Amino acid sequence: MIQYGEIVNASYPKVVVTRHLPGVSAEELAKHVSLAALPPDSPMPRETLLRLVPGAAGILSTLADRIDASLMDAAGPSLKVVSNFAVGVNNVDVAEATRRGIRVCNTPDVLTDATADLGFALLLAAARKFSDAERALRAGEFTGWDPWGFLGVPVHGKTIGIVGLGKIGSAVAARAAGFRMRVLYHNRRRLPTGHEKSLGAEYRKLDELLAESDFIVLCVPLTAETRGLIGRERLARMKKTAVLVNIARGEVVDEGALAEYLAEGGIFAAGLDVYEKEPKIHPSLLAAPSAVLIPHLGSATVETREKMGRLAAENLLAVLAGTEPPCPVN
Ligand code: NAP
Repeated sequence: MIQYGEIVNASYPKVVVTRHLPGVSAEELAKHVSLAALPPDSPMPRETLLRLVPGAAGILSTLADRIDASLMDAAGPSLKVVSNFAVGVNNVDVAEATRRGIRVCNTPDVLTDATADLGFALLLAAARKFSDAERALRAGEFTGWDPWGFLGVPVHGKTIGIVGLGKIGSAVAARAAGFRMRVLYHNRRRLPTGHEKSLGAEYRKLDELLAESDFIVLCVPLTAETRGLIGRERLARMKKTAVLVNIARGEVVDEGALAEYLAEGGIFAAGLDVYEKEPKIHPSLLAAPSAVLIPHLGSATVETREKMGRLAAENLLAVLAGTEPPCPVN
């Protein structure tokens, strides 16, 4: 078993794996690279990463690692590839990497269905008040069937608005079809008519989508444009009975505004997988009624995480071998 911090096969290119990851076999990697770290199951502290990267040709990173210019400086000119164990690369300064000729890779597709499943689970849980009801039951407050207890909003046949109809958004739309929902979507670029038809999705401007939808599911990447996309003003455009689901990135929603709005009864409920300052959660959000809060579980199935790990390792090794990686970002 290769130990944390151990450097093996020093003649191979040096790689820093920032965290013990499903699907990434140290023994397998060690056949091709010199592992500068195979850490235990906790995020690698920034200082450790800065200490380990000098001379590295590759970094196998997770969302917890900030891969910015100062880290690239610390690695030096040897750095060829940053392989991120995620589809989102908002933790990586991709423009800076590109400028330096460093390849950035991610793990799309393999997590699409798991994330869409989770999004739909959140939608159902928020619509039917699972969290509030389960909390009450565990607290011994279930005193018998109650005609007024935890009344939710119906899902079947309602309108879902998907913000970001890409891979995950389309998979959410496919699930919505099973619930006979009307599907609206908003992207920066409208999809070709054939594509819209195959998904049964109608295009709307963002504010129109917010006003018309019973369920709003956020599936956009975090970018300069989508940061703070849903704030007080946009929340106010939603129906009072609307449910907001965020499976994108926390920073897409102004958490403080959302908590306030939920407390005022401005919308019916929210289902959140991601948070502005993970792992910290806005205190008012923790206290917000009708919020289903789960700890960033979008891709969290054994099968999916193992596929992500294998893909992240493949990306890394391909670049180091001088070939095209399966999933390049730049
Ligand atoms: P994708 O296929 O690239 O889809 C992204 C979609 O967002 C595209 O349709 C894109 O269309 C749209 N979009 C981008 N910028 C937009 C903007 N400013 N306004 C409106 N629409 C915009 O990516 P994906 O694989 O579906 O993943 C989407 C995101 O989900 C990831 O980036 C990641 O942050 C998040 N995610 C979260 C989890 C989790 O655990 N919760 C798991 C996986 C992924 P246009 O380019 O035409 O605008």
